[in-house]
Amino acid sequence: MDYEELRDFMVRTQFIPRGIQDERVLAAMRKVPRHLFVDESIRYRAYEDIAIPIGEGQTISQPYMVAVMTELLELKGKERVLEVGTGSGYQAAILAELSRDVYTIERFEKLAKEAEEKFRALGYDNIHAKAGDGTLGWPENAPFDRIIITAGTPKVPEPLIAQLAEDGIVVAPVGERFSQQLIKVKKSERGLSEEYHTMCVFVPLVGKYGWDRE
Ligand code: SAH
Repeated sequence: MDYEELRDFMVRTQFIPRGIQDERVLAAMRKVPRHLFVDESIRYRAYEDIAIPIGEGQTISQPYMVAVMTELLELKGKERVLEVGTGSGYQAAILAELSRDVYTIERFEKLAKEAEEKFRALGYDNIHAKAGDGTLGWPENAPFDRIIITAGTPKVPEPLIAQLAEDGIVVAPVGERFSQQLIKVKKSERGLSEEYHTMCVFVPLVGKYGWDRE
């Protein structure tokens, strides 16, 4: 398989026609080897327009959703980014290409450990990973310029809003259990403003400030 060619095909057929314009985002998605973030048996499908199971009942998000959320974060290269929901680690790797430091939290110990091994193998030394309840944020490393939640939540957890820097942006799928809408929250000296984007379906954010169970 020529994975590089598959990535370029993914960008040309799935992202550009659907309106992704940020050249840095497109370049990162042409570069990061998504097939290494899924099980070997399903690598051949890694660049299709689908979410793929990664164990523990969780999934690696559909590539288009990764592109949309990353573009909404408006990364320029110097940001400190918090990701809640490491999963496979793929989204974190994309963020690491586009920002200074990525802090990523995963609820399942096993997934957190596997992702960390991949970061090390691929040389992403600007990704800091831990297992835990990401709805609490990571206060020791706050404030964050950008926060991305990659699991569906009834609302943006308050601790995350508190740990967002001024002029910061949060992108998250907010709504019901099986259907959410991407929301972009901006913090300025005048307070918070919200923008609504595409509808989506993510696995639930389970934690103190998310859903109380799977
Ligand atoms: N960004 C991931 C998407 C993984 S799916 C990727 O690129 O593969 C969402 C992940 O969020 C799941 O792995 C799930 O276990 C995790 N999750 C759910 N609730 C969480 C919480 N409170 N804190 C941290 N991770 C959580």
